[in-house]
Amino acid sequence: MRHIKLITALALTLCLSFTLVAKPKIRIIATGGTIAGVSATSASSAYTAGQVGIQTLIDAVPQILQLADISGEQLVNIGSQDMNDEVWLKLAKRINVLLNEEGYDGIVITHGTDTMEETAYFLNLTVKSDKPVILAGSMRPSNAISADGPANLYNAVAAAVSPACKGMGVLCCMNNQLLDAKTVIKTHTIDCDTFEGGPSGIIGYIYNGEAHILQAPMNKHTKESEFDVTKLDKLPKVGIVYGYANASPLPMQAFVDAKFDGIVLAGVGDGNFYKDVFEVAVKAQNQGIQIVRSSRCPTGPTCLNSEVDDAKYHFVAALDLNPQKARVLLMLALTKTHNWQEIQEFFMKY
Ligand code: GLU
Repeated sequence: MRHIKLITALALTLCLSFTLVAKPKIRIIATGGTIAGVSATSASSAYTAGQVGIQTLIDAVPQILQLADISGEQLVNIGSQDMNDEVWLKLAKRINVLLNEEGYDGIVITHGTDTMEETAYFLNLTVKSDKPVILAGSMRPSNAISADGPANLYNAVAAAVSPACKGMGVLCCMNNQLLDAKTVIKTHTIDCDTFEGGPSGIIGYIYNGEAHILQAPMNKHTKESEFDVTKLDKLPKVGIVYGYANASPLPMQAFVDAKFDGIVLAGVGDGNFYKDVFEVAVKAQNQGIQIVRSSRCPTGPTCLNSEVDDAKYHFVAALDLNPQKARVLLMLALTKTHNWQEIQEFFMKY
């Protein structure tokens, strides 16, 4: 009897100490990008993205094993210029399973920087959890002199294990900074210091392996989002038309002819159309193809009913969203409604 009591006490102590030292369970989902890229020589700027696999990325930063119980999976291995709706749907569904059914405490996604902001915003609207989901990439390939990938990956894992990053929506972790999925923009083609949070700035930063939060995102996201992709295997077709002086109406007409569900204008100034493009846009809207006005300007909102009478034409103003993120929200909005006023409300909320 005494032996049984002793063994039970020992087992309980072991269990307790295991629980006390158990590290957060973090899954790294690799999708490719420059962080997994290789250049011909370490000094060359010519390289191919998406070359090395998840295990090589993890092995390059053994320090992350001290922060978390790490496991990895390779979803795709592509340059993020080839990111598409199919991969986004797979990613969102997989993250929801890992966080809500398989007991993971946080997710890190390695991703190319070209379209990282779009993937981040898509996940911000489709992940159903308040656990940290952090995207990380790099501007220099894995074998470059002073490669930035390892530090970005380490910081992303530090963010994923941090209670401070819970409830912040999907974040990008680049160059020691944490950026909000809605406001983050890639601003420079080649510099490591390329991501910015726009007028609202950054969400926080990582210093000495710890996340320091400065502010919370302002818009609805993740658990509060009403978009659900669980049962979807494709998304509505939405294209972007770029605005410029003397613009041709042909790209807009081509989307109409191809029966797209929505078109986003990357308009001049406050989301303005060239007159020939405007004519096609009015016809498209009358045919049930939703037009959303955004702007090619890097900063500032596209305001409702300003130079363009949105109420008259039933156009939607993208407000704070740039064209590429307006496209993401319009695709998700069209999974729920084709009513322009309801779609405008989504643009106010998200
Ligand atoms: N085009 C590549 C990509 O987005 C390179 C950009 C990067 O990852 O930094 O995957």
